[in-house]
Amino acid sequence: MALVEVKDLKIFFPIKSGFFSRWRKEQKYIHAVNGVSFKINKGETLGLVGESGCGKSTTGRTILGLYEPTSGDILFEGQSIVNLLPKERFPYRRKMQMIFQDPYSSLNPRMKVKEIIAEPIITHKLVPEEELEDFIFQLMEKVGIDPDYANRYPHQFSGGQRQRIGIARALAMQPDFIVADEPISALDVSIQAQILNLLMDLQEEFGLTYLFIAHDLSVVKHISDRVAIMYLGKICEIGKTEEIFSNPLHPYTRALFDSIPRLTTTSKSYHDVLEGDVPNPIDLPNGCYFHPRCRYAMEVCRQKSPEMKSIENRQVACHLIK
Ligand code: SF4
Ligand code: MG
Repeated sequence: MALVEVKDLKIFFPIKSGFFSRWRKEQKYIHAVNGVSFKINKGETLGLVGESGCGKSTTGRTILGLYEPTSGDILFEGQSIVNLLPKERFPYRRKMQMIFQDPYSSLNPRMKVKEIIAEPIITHKLVPEEELEDFIFQLMEKVGIDPDYANRYPHQFSGGQRQRIGIARALAMQPDFIVADEPISALDVSIQAQILNLLMDLQEEFGLTYLFIAHDLSVVKHISDRVAIMYLGKICEIGKTEEIFSNPLHPYTRALFDSIPRLTTTSKSYHDVLEGDVPNPIDLPNGCYFHPRCRYAMEVCRQKSPEMKSIENRQVACHLIK
């Protein structure tokens, strides 16, 4: 059974309207997520990739209960977790954790590291008080921070160390599922691989399941079992990582590959360079959302939204796929 399942998720945010729209009784929306479905199996990592503003963070945050979906369903261990009362939501707040892009802004600058890690443990009464300190020291060791630094404040650590502290805090809850929202994109390139390796080690040790969000395909290559490519709040292609990397099928996926700087001459190029801007999520285009930027766009693409089609292990939403 899937640990997490998202079914036809839609998330629209109402926007404040000016005088004329109010007068005409028009309410406009930002269509952040427009019908997304996927499953994540226990112990697996799904990479969720797309340009900024495509709805990937909104999807991750909605799974964690930070936003209410406009429609659709989210299942955790087969149970629907949308529209829960706060009391019913409480156990999921422990089981499902988040690692943020910017560890600095997510750590309280006035709290010592040991207090930052202890806070959720105390809220959820996870460890008896007399064992708390040992538990925190063990966690710090697990994420590669010397427990001697437990009384230091966030500003006394480097960016990579702060991300390790953010990871320790998420891990303190003994979660099953972690949404990692661009956890390495704010870090030095030299540190990025260390954090990725740490996340992979912790996954193995604790049987964690990840939704790993990134705007860059190359970042998810080593950590993800499967990858989903998102564009304007829809998934255009989803499949096994090695299959997507060896043979991307959707024109947008190919364009994302072409936007990766090529360091070696053996890297593929599909000549599907991305041109133009992402359309406005308030007034979405008709048909395939990618048609204004797609060099293969046909008449049908301007009129009809392509359905998800399964080919072998892959799912692709494009009229080119028969
Ligand atoms: Fe391009 Fe048409 Fe496929 Fe959309 S459906 S990606 S516009 S070919
Ligand atoms: Mg984001």
